[in-house]
Amino acid sequence: MTDGKTQLTGLIGWPVEHSFSPAMHNSAFDALGLNWYYVPLPVRPGQVAAAVKGLVALGFRGANVTVPHKQAVMPHLDEITDTARAIGAVNTIVVERGRLIGHNTDGSGFIAALRDEGFEPSGKHALVLGAGGAARAITYSLAKTECAVTIHNRTADRAKELAQHLESSGMGALVAWVQPASRLSDLDLGQFDLLVNATSVGMWPHTDVSPWPGTLSVPSGWTVYDLVFNPAETLLLAQARATGAAAISGLGMLVRQGSIAFEMWTSKPPPVDLMRSACEQALSGHQKNLTKAG
Ligand code: NAP
Repeated sequence: MTDGKTQLTGLIGWPVEHSFSPAMHNSAFDALGLNWYYVPLPVRPGQVAAAVKGLVALGFRGANVTVPHKQAVMPHLDEITDTARAIGAVNTIVVERGRLIGHNTDGSGFIAALRDEGFEPSGKHALVLGAGGAARAITYSLAKTECAVTIHNRTADRAKELAQHLESSGMGALVAWVQPASRLSDLDLGQFDLLVNATSVGMWPHTDVSPWPGTLSVPSGWTVYDLVFNPAETLLLAQARATGAAAISGLGMLVRQGSIAFEMWTSKPPPVDLMRSACEQALSGHQKNLTKAG
C-alpha cells in the first residue's frame, strides 16, 4: 500500500522492465515495515537531465541508475563521492536536503559478494574480461584491496584506456592490460587466482556463448565470478565447474550493491538474505515465463 507519506526510490535506466531491483527493494521495505516504494523509471536517452532534476521536485529519497545512464547522470548531480568519480560512473543517487549525491556501489557490492563466497581478493591476481562500465567499478575496487588486475577486452583501446585511468588514480603498479590479439591461451594462466567476466557475453537471451574459449580448460584452482546473473548458470560457470574451479553467479553482486544503496537511503541495516531470496524468486519467475512463452 502506498499513501501520501510513502517515501519513493526508483531505478533510472533504459530499458528497465526486466530489472529485479524493484522486487528486491520492495520486499526489503515490506520486511522492515517501511512505508517506502521502489519504482522502475524508464528514462529515454536525452531525458536524463530532466529525470535527475525531477527526483528532487517529486520528493524522491534516491534512485539507482543503470545502463545506459551511469555516466550521463553525473553532470546533473550536486556532489559525487571520490569513489564514484574515480570509477567514472554513478549507480546510486541519494537525495539529502534537496541535494543530489552520486555514489557507486557496484564495486563495493562486488567485493562484498566475493567475500560472502569466502574469496579474499587482497594479495591475489585477477584476470578481468571487459572494459565497460562494470569493469571500471570491478577493476578499481579490486586494485583498492591490493589485488593485482590484468584487463583483457575485445576492443584493446578500451582496456588500455581503463588501465591508464587506474594508473592516474595511483594504482599503476597493480594494473596491466593485454592485447586481445594475444589470445587467452597465450597468457601464463598460472599467475591468476580469479577470473571475472565483466562483459555482457552469456547474458540472456544469448545464453549459448561464453567469453572463455571452449578449447581452453579453466584452471581448477581458480575462482570464476560471472557478473552475468541471468541465467544463473552461464556457460562460463559450467566451464569452470567442469574442471573443479569455484563458480559464482553475479546475483550476489546484484544483491550486495542493492543492499548498500538500501542502507544509504534508509539508514537501516538491509535484510540481505531476504533481498537475495527476492532476486532468486524474480529470476525463477523470469525463467518460468520464458518456458511458458516457449
Ligand atoms: P558495457 O559498459 O556495455 O560493457 C560491455 C562489455 O562487454 C565491454 O567490455 C564489451 O567489449 C564487452 N562485450 C560486449 N559484447 C561482446 C562480445 N560479443 N565479445 C566480447 N566482448 C563483448 O556493459 P556493463 O555495464 O559493463 O555490463 C557488463 C555486464 O555486467 C552485463 O552483463 C551486466 O548485466 C553485468 N552487470 C552485472 C551487475 C551485477 O550486479 N551482477 C552489475 C553491473 C553489470 P567492447 O569494449 O569491445 O565493446
